Amino acid sequence: MITFNKIRPLMLSVETTNQCNSECFFCPIKKQKRAIGSMSYELFAKICQEYDKEQGGYLSLTPSVGEFFLDNLWRERIEIAKQYKSINTTVTTNAHVISSLSNTDILRISESFNKISISFYGLNEDEHKYITHKNFHSKAILGLKKLLNFYPSKNIEIGFRLADSISKDVLKLWIIEKFGEEINFHSNHLYNNWNYIPIETKFHISNQSKASLCGLPLISFRIYYDGKMSLCPCAYTFNSPSFLLGNVTDNQLSDLFGFGMQKIHNALLKNEFYDCKNCSIRIEVDEVCNEFKLKDYPPYYFGG
Ligand code: SF4
Ligand code: SF4
Repeated sequence: MITFNKIRPLMLSVETTNQCNSECFFCPIKKQKRAIGSMSYELFAKICQEYDKEQGGYLSLTPSVGEFFLDNLWRERIEIAKQYKSINTTVTTNAHVISSLSNTDILRISESFNKISISFYGLNEDEHKYITHKNFHSKAILGLKKLLNFYPSKNIEIGFRLADSISKDVLKLWIIEKFGEEINFHSNHLYNNWNYIPIETKFHISNQSKASLCGLPLISFRIYYDGKMSLCPCAYTFNSPSFLLGNVTDNQLSDLFGFGMQKIHNALLKNEFYDCKNCSIRIEVDEVCNEFKLKDYPPYYFGG
């Protein structure tokens, strides 16, 4: 007999805020039906303490939609996570806020994250504005330059979000020109469909076939800022309450992990599918077991 409260996903993603300083055309941020908010200090401390008891591992602070550094308590949160040797903290940021931080704060960031992913929206101000509807391109450049003064570039990954396909060679040269050194990167010019990108545009990833159950919940569950835990990062972007497992505020993390793993187990046994609507970020369960990137760096699948 399987004891479900002894098993858990590979890592954990925690959304500490769902506020953002951009309005990317492909992002569901403006369409979300829930209020804008941030996680309480006490709840975040409880999550870290219980995650440590569950042996810890990667803790991604990349929100489903939102910007981690807009959260007023970001300094306190990284101090809490840092207390636990079992926890490897990672985050993805658009670096706009970092551009205006003091050296003390940037040093604090450098000492707290095992890996930082920087999302660059466009290669210049015009493309940036086209994608984000904001004029923050130069802030993003400055933010990464400031970070590089303290943080090793080998622990940084740039994620380009572009309006067109650009060759790797061009992107590599762009990075060297802007930052004076090579930095790991990947790029997207097609975006996940949460039903918000008009289907006739060129930006849309085609929907994946539903040949088997999606494997992403095996990699990570998601805790939203209000404490609700979900099997999948898309519970709110799809408004799919069937993904929700309960609230960490009044449940033990281990119980919710076990409940979620039992749900996955039952779905696999019955060959049922989750309520995924048109999601195009799914990966097959088999892929989860075989993917090189998973063994190397599981937060990759959740934006870093
Ligand atoms: S920066 Fe990220 S969260 Fe913010 S609007 Fe763009 S895609 Fe959405
Ligand atoms: S296919 Fe999309 S919505 Fe469904 S479980 Fe996977 S990530 Fe979540």
